[in-house]
Amino acid sequence: MNLSEAFSLRGETALITGGGTGIGLAIAGAMHAAGARVVLVGRREAELAAAVKSLGAGASHIVHDVTRFDAAPGLAERAAREAGPITCLVNNAGIHLKKPAVETTPEEFERVLSTHVIGAHALTRAVAPGMIERRHGCVLFTGSMASFFGIPLVIAYTAAKSALVGMVRGYAAEFSAHGVRVNCIAPGWIETEMSRKALEGDPGRRAKVLGRTPGARLGRPEDIGWAAVYLASPAAKFVTGVTLPVDGGASIGF
Ligand code: NDP
Repeated sequence: MNLSEAFSLRGETALITGGGTGIGLAIAGAMHAAGARVVLVGRREAELAAAVKSLGAGASHIVHDVTRFDAAPGLAERAAREAGPITCLVNNAGIHLKKPAVETTPEEFERVLSTHVIGAHALTRAVAPGMIERRHGCVLFTGSMASFFGIPLVIAYTAAKSALVGMVRGYAAEFSAHGVRVNCIAPGWIETEMSRKALEGDPGRRAKVLGRTPGARLGRPEDIGWAAVYLASPAAKFVTGVTLPVDGGASIGF
């Protein structure tokens, strides 16, 4: 295998939840640049359509809510019909909830878990059998620094992002012998709509984030996109079950 083959996604079809904005769109852009067809998934049609237009040929979208668990098999079938069998699933869709733990209601907690954890599981179990049958596939998750740290005011988000790390190990243990690798990227603080809302009006939190990030800046969505290309590519063919921090050193900084 030469260098360009090692990092190529030519012939792959990636289904990316939350692909219309932020980190998901950057993953889609990087995978598209590496030769993959990409199918972007989210609830807002206008965002998805604009994202597809910005990517050009080889990109398409499907409006879908990942918390509609019963619709996951239909999404997988439609995506395969329109773009070819899904060879890479990126479980990236997410919502944030910032409030004190004792004020977080069970309903709010459940909504966050439904989006990040059960939504991702519903889609993974819909897509993985085809990958296993073809003995070729890659599943990626978007974790967080909240997968590792106790961050105040994000209890439900922390539960969800911590669960993903365990799920990645569990799926990897079941799927890897069948040619399906499962990995996670844990982004540091990345400049997107979500982090803007989490940090705005909270200069102390922003200073804390930058103070513990040796890279001394927030990340850019494309920093995550290229890491996703690596994990999905033949270059990473013996990498499975890991959570890769892409965080400018935030997870090791003091
Ligand atoms: P965005 O808010 O831009 O992205 C979230 C995406 O998820 C949107 O495209 C949204 O689309 C989609 N989404 C949310 N709920 C659903 C749903 N029920 N069904 C389908 N799609 C849904 O923020 P980011 O790009 O920052 O976030 C992307 C991922 O990265 C999330 O998992 C987030 O937790 C994670 N992350 C972000 C970090 C950061 O610093 N920005 C750091 C660490 C992790 P729509 O609303 O149209 O459905």
